[in-house]
Amino acid sequence: MEQVVIIGAGPAGYTAALYAARANLSPLVLVGRVPGGQLSLTSDIENFPGFPEGLGGMELVDRMKVQAERFGPVVRYEEATAVDFSPVAHRVITDTEVYTTRTLILCTGSTSRRLNVAGEDRFFGHGVSTCATCDGAFYRDRRVIVVGGGDSALEEGIFLTRFAHHVRIVHRRDVLRASRIMQHRAMENPRIEFVWNTVIEEVLGDERTGVTGARVKNLVTGTETVLDADGLFIAIGHIPSTELFKGKLALDEQGYIVTDRRQHTSVPGVFAGGDVQDHVFRQAITAAGTGCAAAMEAEKCIARGE
Ligand code: NAP
Repeated sequence: MEQVVIIGAGPAGYTAALYAARANLSPLVLVGRVPGGQLSLTSDIENFPGFPEGLGGMELVDRMKVQAERFGPVVRYEEATAVDFSPVAHRVITDTEVYTTRTLILCTGSTSRRLNVAGEDRFFGHGVSTCATCDGAFYRDRRVIVVGGGDSALEEGIFLTRFAHHVRIVHRRDVLRASRIMQHRAMENPRIEFVWNTVIEEVLGDERTGVTGARVKNLVTGTETVLDADGLFIAIGHIPSTELFKGKLALDEQGYIVTDRRQHTSVPGVFAGGDVQDHVFRQAITAAGTGCAAAMEAEKCIARGE
């Protein structure tokens, strides 16, 4: 029987692993399909305290992993496929193993929201992307579209100007949701053009060259036009990765895990941290903080013999 199993290996998962390992609980970390979670898709982190020069998202995750591993957690590259909560011992099933554990910390994060328009799936990976950090370099001296009006869209747009000579940010309203500093940077960037009040109706392309543009609609005038582009990046928010937990613990109306102020879920001995339980802040630092709190509460729960 494990003391602590941590599902997910982003900033919340690795911080939980660091704290649980330093508490001699020998945690087991199930890394899953996307090591690093959303952070691994982020270009520059300028707001994680302690790194005044900033650093890459993946570099930050790697540093967290190395720091946690100093204290000996078991890290397995297995994906949890089912969970079974019980008052006696919780079970986590992966492709290859069944683990029983006294406590569980859920840090499964979130995935990128998709547009659900024609052509999006067909050209996904052939010009359609949700990760500028991963795919931006393919667009040197090309034209790209970024969809969204939040910090992610502007961050992706600004990052893409390192490669693309023209970046159109297509937003469904004429007011951005992004923070003022990001708005200022994007507005000042000569390679960025905003296309307001506009939605993507269809991603256009052909099998040989991939994406060639998008058919878009202006929501104010109703006019449809075609924007030429070689790539289309979707940055319209996230969906919590809670499929495994539906019907097994309390989720809110948007599907996020409900936690109390101490990261307890509705099931005793099961805790959650990071983006899977946070649709408000969604920062690396808050994810790390809630991962820490979850591990400290798991430790208390074990110490009390609950
Ligand atoms: P977000 O703030 O929820 O913004 C999502 C954007 O996508 C909104 O502008 C929204 O439009 C638009 N959108 C949603 N569904 C859409 C659809 N179906 N079609 C077209 N547009 C759609 O998400 P985010 O930008 O990923 O940011 C999430 C959190 O992470 C925020 O707290 C943000 O501050 C943080 N973050 C911070 C940084 C940073 O500090 N550098 C970087 C990235 C993210 P509406 O505005 O009309 O709703």
